Amino acid sequence: MPASWSAAARSPHRKVQQLLRAGARVTVNAPSLCAELGDLAASGSIHWKDGEFDARLLADHLLIVAATDDRDVNRDVAAHARSAQRLCNVVDDGEFSTFIVPSVVDRSPVIVAVSSGGSSPTLARMIRQRLDEWLPQRIGALARWAAGLREQVKQAMPDPRARLRFWQDILDGTPAEHVLAGRQAMADGEVRAALGAADRYAGVGEAWLVGAGPGDPGLITRRGLQLLQRADAVLYDRLMPRELLDLARREASLVSVGKTPGGPSWRQEDINRELVRRVREGQRVCRLKGGDPFIFGRGAEEVQALAKAGLPYQVVPGITAAAGCAAYAGIPLTHRALASAVTFVTASLADGNAETDWQSLARLGQTLVFYMGARILDDIAANLLNAGCDPATPAAIVENGTTSVQRVIGGTLGTIGLRSREAAVAAPAVLIVGGVAELAGQLQWFGTGRHHDKVPKTAGACH
Ligand code: SAH
Repeated sequence: MPASWSAAARSPHRKVQQLLRAGARVTVNAPSLCAELGDLAASGSIHWKDGEFDARLLADHLLIVAATDDRDVNRDVAAHARSAQRLCNVVDDGEFSTFIVPSVVDRSPVIVAVSSGGSSPTLARMIRQRLDEWLPQRIGALARWAAGLREQVKQAMPDPRARLRFWQDILDGTPAEHVLAGRQAMADGEVRAALGAADRYAGVGEAWLVGAGPGDPGLITRRGLQLLQRADAVLYDRLMPRELLDLARREASLVSVGKTPGGPSWRQEDINRELVRRVREGQRVCRLKGGDPFIFGRGAEEVQALAKAGLPYQVVPGITAAAGCAAYAGIPLTHRALASAVTFVTASLADGNAETDWQSLARLGQTLVFYMGARILDDIAANLLNAGCDPATPAAIVENGTTSVQRVIGGTLGTIGLRSREAAVAAPAVLIVGGVAELAGQLQWFGTGRHHDKVPKTAGACH
């Protein structure tokens, strides 16, 4: 059965070409043909059914494209197609189409199709163009090469999970690079070696502690993202951006192990136990943690539990809240004139941190960043003042740093407690204390456009 038929012509030869490339047999039903279609008909590449629309043609055609420049004729064709239960595309008329023709990047057998659902063909074409630039020219060759190996790999690795890992490693590693560079013999050699050590892929679990950064999903590292995308399970903290979780594999189980204030909570021991259990079972588990896993993140306890159980793990650093919040608030944590050291402090008194050495924190010339302090800002300020800090020392609170709802509240050690109450600051927030905190007023760039307000209104001459 011919795969396609097209009614009369505006300039449908491109669509016809596209269909021919896809292997369709094409009949064109039109009273006359443009030059290009005329050539195709003359060479026998398409069949021309001379004349007005003939509904009898529908019976032995699978796809219908209505491409006349008369809307009523197009809709008439579409109505006939629908009652004959044929798929029909009406050019520039999504409402009457039962299929659309996407923009296609063809690196056969790899094909990427982009559609904007008819809302903006130009946008779809732009996306197509970007994909075209980004996809390696020889990605089709890579797919063919992989196809040639599938049976062999299946025999060597009956376990589907092991096979998945094998292919991830191969397609993401040097063998794929060899194929893309045309060095197939080398790729084959590496695959033979990998198949020889097939046990490596069978049932071996591993834990990956990945720092997700403080909020902006763009702040995860490339390595972190790579592992997140490979994981069988993702155990994630509260406040993890949805955009990151959406990047996990579709089959991966996503488990929130966050400590919800007032809600059901995972105890740290339970998280450790869950990690160990899953890894023992052979899963590759991404433990996705806010900020950096080893900064006030209890990553150490999780890694200790894994080490004790003799299980493999990796730790991928992340941008810690202090670094992220400071950058997005325009506060350089060190500065040649203002701070030659920076100290991260956990202010959580609940953690038995009452023995904080306030005297040494009160030393001049350093920046202090307090984590987990939103509710006890007054206490922090009072302790620093007691230890001899100047009440005029600049201080800033960054709430929900790096996210679209970031707030920066400035003040001094003397005023910051009151300011935070006035602004009803809530977790998550960091308190930054030291001369550098004042620079937020000049340097803040993210989100608020606030620095525009600070531009002095010049009354005199400009120099
Ligand atoms: N491992 C994390 C810290 C976990 S402790 C890291 O490296 O950043 C949680 C504390 O981090 C919060 O109470 C808060 O003080 C701080 N924090 C995390 N995300 C934050 C954000 N987006 N804005 C401000 N503070 C944040």
